[in-house]
Amino acid sequence: MTGNEIRKRFIQYFQKHGHTHERSSGLIPRNDPTLMFTNAGMVQFKSVFLGEEKRPYTRAVTSQKCVRAGGKHNDLENVGRTARHHTFFEMLGNFSFGDYFKKEAIPFAWSFVTEELKLDPARLLVTVYSEDDEAFDIWTQDVGLPPEKVIRIPTNDNFWSMGDTGPCGPCSEIFYDYGPSVAGGPPGSEDEDGDRFVEIWNLVFMQYDRDSDGNLNPLPKPSIDTGAGLERIASVMQGKQNNYDTDLFQPLLRAAGSIAGVDYVSCSDEQRVSLRVIADHIRAACFLIADGVLPSNEGRGYVLRRIMRRAMRHGKLLGIEQPFMHQLVEVLAAHMGDVYTELAEQRNAIALIIETEEKRFAKTLSAGLKILEENAAGLKAGDVLDGQTLFTLYDTYGFPLDLTADILRDRNIGVDEEGFNAHMAEQRKRARAAWAGSGEESVGAIYHEVQEKVGGSEFLGYVTESASGAVA
Ligand code: ATP
Ligand code: MG
Ligand code: MG
Ligand code: MG
Repeated sequence: MTGNEIRKRFIQYFQKHGHTHERSSGLIPRNDPTLMFTNAGMVQFKSVFLGEEKRPYTRAVTSQKCVRAGGKHNDLENVGRTARHHTFFEMLGNFSFGDYFKKEAIPFAWSFVTEELKLDPARLLVTVYSEDDEAFDIWTQDVGLPPEKVIRIPTNDNFWSMGDTGPCGPCSEIFYDYGPSVAGGPPGSEDEDGDRFVEIWNLVFMQYDRDSDGNLNPLPKPSIDTGAGLERIASVMQGKQNNYDTDLFQPLLRAAGSIAGVDYVSCSDEQRVSLRVIADHIRAACFLIADGVLPSNEGRGYVLRRIMRRAMRHGKLLGIEQPFMHQLVEVLAAHMGDVYTELAEQRNAIALIIETEEKRFAKTLSAGLKILEENAAGLKAGDVLDGQTLFTLYDTYGFPLDLTADILRDRNIGVDEEGFNAHMAEQRKRARAAWAGSGEESVGAIYHEVQEKVGGSEFLGYVTESASGAVA
């Protein structure tokens, strides 16, 4: 079953059960300045859950674009290192706004995975929050799972909150077991971070309203919020042990491989990691740009820049010397543009923005890598690279701190973050003194040129970026 088909089946299944299909919202949360990016399906429904907004329905189903890089959920470091984390991914979700609750939500999820998708129940296990006897009983009595397949988790991993106050409640997660040939322990165990037991679906039971004294007051109309990773389900459905091996990533991996002259299947493990990082990051970059984020030195734009520069460095590791990421835009637009029309509509602008950013970084990437290597040459595992070098790499060569850290991580060399921050603070002080009164803001100017070249599209990036810059 292809990724597209799984997405369609999910939506149809919940439509059949009275849910209204709502489009994915954008990656820049419209009504939530505290959030860097939309990182879950519930984000667009926040005010509905809070009772501030009324919709003409009480059940909804979505396939939501999510980015988890920067901010509260940050999976950037995981990309290429685990089989199941992306910076950009699609979250399938069904929602009940004061309509059905646990007794319906749990069987819905179970019947979707075992009857619609026909996953082998023997491969599945679930978690509940340790105190949530109600969910435990539904899983064991209504659904009929043996009690040893329902793991009680006492930590906050299985207790969700919207914020310090407001709606919150226990979660229940469905895991798929890839079997003992894959490293990793069951949820709640010490080595749960491996890829053997993969969390495919999280059900959140919003049943309390936490007040400022920390009291949990029962909500009169409890709600449901769920999230299932499309790429993870595709991986399971397609008999793969790694999300990147699914059809959702193949066109990108093949295209990147052909530019680099390496084959995704027969290349070395390091090369495969580089191809995966590029495939992940080009998706994030394209979707972010399509939703109005532009590379810049602050806020959301800087997260985008960091993602893109990481991918460029991996291109270099593969021996690619020319700007190449912009060529992948067309591949992605051809693959996903039907479902996410913003990609198809804006593909020329996106490609031009990416190419511009690539050319910009190409000027300093090689020289920066040389500086990095020279200064790291004498270091051994356990050492840290000094703040002055980190700052030079950042300031003169455009290396985000996390890019340098990422390059050194495999050698177990750390970075002197404090030293780096001290240099940054020093520079800001100097800059403030020098710029006093000039009022000049040059960041982004280059992209305004791009906009002029591209002309009259409905591209909203320039309007929204100033607003996003405020979120650090
Ligand atoms: P994990 O523990 O594996 O990091 P999570 O508990 O952080 O996942 P949730 O916040 O519960 O994830 O999100 C709901 C679902 O979205 C998960 O069950 C998973 O299927 C999917 N998901 C979460 N993070 C990612 C990611 N970075 N890449 C791909 N899918 C993800
Ligand atoms: Mg996570
Ligand atoms: Mg989890
Ligand atoms: Mg979870």
